[in-house]
Amino acid sequence: MDNSALFSLQYGVFVLGTHFDGKINACITNTCFQAANDPVRIAVSVINSNLTCEMIKQSGTFALSVLDSRCTFETIKNFGYQSGRNVNKFAEFPYSLDDFGNPYPTKEICALLSGKVVKSVDLGTHTLFIAEVADAKMLSRSNPITYMGYQKVIKPKPVVSTEKKIVGWRCKICGYVYNGAELPTDFICPLCGHPASDFDPVYEQ
Ligand code: FE
Repeated sequence: MDNSALFSLQYGVFVLGTHFDGKINACITNTCFQAANDPVRIAVSVINSNLTCEMIKQSGTFALSVLDSRCTFETIKNFGYQSGRNVNKFAEFPYSLDDFGNPYPTKEICALLSGKVVKSVDLGTHTLFIAEVADAKMLSRSNPITYMGYQKVIKPKPVVSTEKKIVGWRCKICGYVYNGAELPTDFICPLCGHPASDFDPVYEQ
């Protein structure tokens, strides 16, 4: 099976916010699509190890913000490269709350969908939340970004030294280390579920 065929599927990039027990949090996901009409339902897939995933299971609601062409890597890093278990991701990021009390960024997003979960399916690495859209609004006229556009334009390329020998690859999200010079392109971090593109080389000392 050629897993790289899966890279042909198109995605957006979204900030997924929720709140529970007096705490607000959000993560990045690339997987959201409209799944039904009347009532409008969307499906969102979230990595199980994310705090946001745990919190949505408790709160039953979320705010899905569509990142637009003004999005910077700093924004992706803020919401996607650190955990709400350690930091408040909204401490220095402008935000507002939807009618459910879920946080959403007030910059770099073009649309907001507020969802009430009607069904969740545990898929092992991820949970798929199917939600009824309770509210939807446009927040800018900028175009939404695609996941491929993020990978090609917004995300900095890793600087690989040709002088030293690569002995492994470290996950930038959770620190997991893969031993070996070549990281398979379809590798998925066994701890946090992030893809090979989120790994940096580890050099021989
Ligand atoms: Fe990881």
